[in-house]
Amino acid sequence: MAGIYIYSDNNEIAAEIIGFAKRVGKEAVLLAFDEKTAEVMGNSGADKIYLLNGESELVESYAKAVAELLQKEEAELFAVGSTARGRELAARAAGYLDCALVSDVSALSYADGWFLAERMMYGGLVQQRESLDGLGVVTVPGGKFDPVTGNAEVISMAVQADRRVSLVETAPIVRQGADLSQADKVVCVGMGLDKEEDLETARALAEAIGAEIACTRGIAEERHWLPAELYIGISGAVIKPKLYVSLGVSGQIQHIFGIRDSQLIVGIDTNERAPIFKAADYGIVGDLYEIVPLLTDALKKQTIDRPE
Ligand SMILES: Cc1cc2nc3c(=O)[nH]c(=O)nc-3n(C[C@H](O)[C@H](O)[C@H](O)COP(=O)(O)OP(=O)(O)OC[C@H]3O[C@@H](n4cnc5c(N)ncnc54)[C@H](O)[C@@H]3O)c2cc1C
Repeated sequence: MAGIYIYSDNNEIAAEIIGFAKRVGKEAVLLAFDEKTAEVMGNSGADKIYLLNGESELVESYAKAVAELLQKEEAELFAVGSTARGRELAARAAGYLDCALVSDVSALSYADGWFLAERMMYGGLVQQRESLDGLGVVTVPGGKFDPVTGNAEVISMAVQADRRVSLVETAPIVRQGADLSQADKVVCVGMGLDKEEDLETARALAEAIGAEIACTRGIAEERHWLPAELYIGISGAVIKPKLYVSLGVSGQIQHIFGIRDSQLIVGIDTNERAPIFKAADYGIVGDLYEIVPLLTDALKKQTIDRPE
């Protein structure tokens, strides 16, 4: 059975890829490794769900079995959600299949018998388009396609796991900051901030508008003023808030990658040529140390004066 074979440990991404498959007129076959996923995804619009039963808890241990299944069924594409687990499986399956792997695509389409993928290269400086000749593997981040609905047939099959790596222990990750992907409003600080104490200036503004604090990579990874999970960009968090306000952020492409889906971008920077002003809907050229306290006071006053 030809078609697009899909896996993600994130059900939303899996549903979105199924949506893509159906929209380009392909069979959508979802791979699930546990009964709960197969059940939850029963209305995802997939044509089939293969419930792969084996002994390992590590999905990537089934890469060889998945590759053999794809080959046997003459799959056209293996589309995997770009999560840590998904990338593990995708890379190994592509290895067993000896086929192309296009990772973290920013766009995926199908035309005239070809799958076309786009992805950022060189830290976001170049957008590359690639076409896949024959069966290939792609990894797809969330938010790229709309899901569909429809009942799927569930077919169970036993698969052999590669037991050379096994799970020893799992421990929850203790988050140090907010989940930026869900934030409605974000105030982002950049290297234009002089001292760590000055974060309070940004926090006061964030509090006045009910925003989360975020930063550029240098603030997190060079200065260590904020946790790494709070930096935005191509190698950090990708956000889509209603409002993004930057303070002393130059707006390099690697940072813009993470904010370009924001509904309203406001940039404050002393340098009128800073690239942030190309991305911004509103720009204020000036010293953040003068502007931000004034803005915070005005916004607080507006909140207080606003009639119920
Ligand atoms: C492969 C790769 C991946 C990367 N990934 C990321 C990423 O995911 N996220 C990320 O953020 N970066 C990333 N970077 C780094 C990125 O290229 C930039 O260096 C970084 O985003 C710049 O951070 P910044 O804007 O805080 O600092 P700068 O570029 O130094 O900008 C500081 C800004 O502050 C302004 N300023 C100074 N004083 C004031 C003041 N008093 N008031 C107002 N404005 C002031 C300056 O005019 C300047 O525009 C990556 C780089 C590479 C090579």
